[in-house]
This record gives sequence, C-alpha cells and structure tokens, in this order.
Amino acid sequence: MLSYLHSFHAGNHADILKHVTLLYTLQYFNKKDKPYAVFDTHSGRGLYDIKNECALKTGEAAQGIGRLLETASNSGDSQFPSELNDYLNFVKKSLEKGFYPGSPAIEKAFIKPGSALFLTELHKTEAAFLSEHFGGKNGVHISNSDGFSFLKSNVPPAQKRGFILCDPSYEEKSDYYNAAQVLSFVHKKWSGATILLWYPLLKNREEEIENMKAQLFSTVKNRDFHTEVLDARLLVDTPDSHTETSLEESIGSARPRLYGSAILAVNPCWGLKEHLESILPFLSKTLEREEGCGDYSVVLE
Ligand code: SAM
Repeated sequence: MLSYLHSFHAGNHADILKHVTLLYTLQYFNKKDKPYAVFDTHSGRGLYDIKNECALKTGEAAQGIGRLLETASNSGDSQFPSELNDYLNFVKKSLEKGFYPGSPAIEKAFIKPGSALFLTELHKTEAAFLSEHFGGKNGVHISNSDGFSFLKSNVPPAQKRGFILCDPSYEEKSDYYNAAQVLSFVHKKWSGATILLWYPLLKNREEEIENMKAQLFSTVKNRDFHTEVLDARLLVDTPDSHTETSLEESIGSARPRLYGSAILAVNPCWGLKEHLESILPFLSKTLEREEGCGDYSVVLE
C-alpha cells in the first residue's frame, strides 16, 4: 500500500540537496554535444503546490525552500554562494508560474534536446498527474509502474551515456534492499552510468542504510576499484532528534523525523564534490532546525 505522498514534503531540505545535485549533473552532461538518457525511477507528480493543505500541515517547504529564498534575498552577494544561483533562479521562475518544481520539472527544463527522459511513478494518481503535465512531449517516456523493475529492464539505454536518479520514499524497509540490489545489477549492465541514490538519515534505519551503501559500494569497487563513489550528507538536526508529532494525525503514528539526508553518487560528474563543498556549509547553516544543529560531509572514495 502506498501511503507516502511527496506533496507533504516537497521543498524540504532533502529536496534541496537532491535537486541541486540533479541540476549540476544535468548541466555537466549538457557540456558534451551528445544526447543522453535520464532515468528518474521515483518521479512523483512533477509539480507541487507548496501553499496547499499538505505543505502547510508539515511546514517542511517553509523551513526548506521558503527559508532559503528568504535568506538569499536578505544576504549580500559575498555571503551567498553563487553556485546556488541557477537552482534558485529556476525555483523562483517556477514559483512565479504557480508551482514548485519536482525532479521531472528540473529534468524536462534542463535536459539536452534529443535526449531521452524515462519517468516512472507507481502511485496511480501521482502518475496520472505526471502524464497530464509531462506526457506527449518529445523524448519523455512515462510509466505508471515499479521504478526498480522498469530500470532493470531498460538499461543500458540506446544513448549509452546517461544517469539515474533513484529517489525511493523508503516507506517500506524493502526499499533499502531493493535499491542496493537493483542499482548493483544496473551498474553491472551499464557500468558507465552515473547513479544518484538519495537516502534519508533516520536514527531507526541506520542498519538498513549501512547495508544498502555497503552492498552498492562493494559491487562497484569489486568491478573496478577506480570507480568513484561520493557520499554527501546534509544534516539539519541532531541524529537523536525526537519523533515527528505534527504528522501523527495524517499518518497515524509517531515516527522518527529525518535529521537530514544524503546522496550516494556512483561515477559522480567531475566537480560535483567541489560544488557540494561550496554550498553545503551555507545550506546546513540556513536550513538547521536549531542553532548549531546543522552539519554536512562530503566523502569521495
Ligand atoms: N523524485 C521526486 C522529486 O524529487 O520531485 C520525489 C519522489 S518521492 C520522494 C517518491 C515517489 O516514489 C512517490 O511519489 C511515490 O509514490 C513513488 N513510489 C513509491 N514506490 C515506488 C516504486 N516502487 N516505483 C516507482 N515509484 C514509487
């Protein structure tokens, strides 16, 4: 049963880390004069209203993108990392048009013409919305199906060059296992692909997270020890932070709150490490829940 709806979380700190990484990757791929393929395995609905009831209930967009936009407009040029400009300008333009951009909107806007964009979304209503707004466009393929199975059956793509954004909701513990299994399989079939795997930082899932990372890491390094793997974390709270009580009503139980999130990138684009190192100090300070809680790390192995 799918109960996760990204409308409650769109625009939070995790989206910011993920979308900044996504945009950098698209821009890097655009440097070569060749089309490529992008797989977004867990696309969501693509466009969000961050002023609706869902967003207001959690307040995550206000504490995330809302706070970032406000800080950007109040800080002088010297304090604000210029590396965030493209991302923020795109978000601002989208908000002016009446929506907050999910990953498909960023991909659609920045992908090189002639490239292929594969969007998979399992939730029926979310997939229908995605099709309505992104379907029928040149090079965009939408599937209302399991993103893991779709990816396994469609790599390597005809374009050979490309990348994968894997952004499960981790509603089920099995998502950790599936992500490791499927991405390890994909890496064996399409070893040149850049893989961007988003994962949550949750105190009660440390074991699952470590197992997932260890499996993917060992697959990649056993195949070729020189393949690079980057792990970038953005923390907005301390690991021991509390349970999320404001969500109890909507989800029926208290659950530990994300204290941050991370991107594990296999074959990261050249310069991604430096890019993240230049913006994460600012993001962790701007998005921290309480003074002194914010932190970050970027490790390239
Ligand atoms: N990537 C989106 C973005 O950045 O805007 C957000 C995606 S949200 C974190 C995860 C999405 O995965 C949800 O919309 C959920 O319905 C969908 N989902 C859950 N299980 C799935 C599966 N097995 N295959 C494809 N989509 C799935």
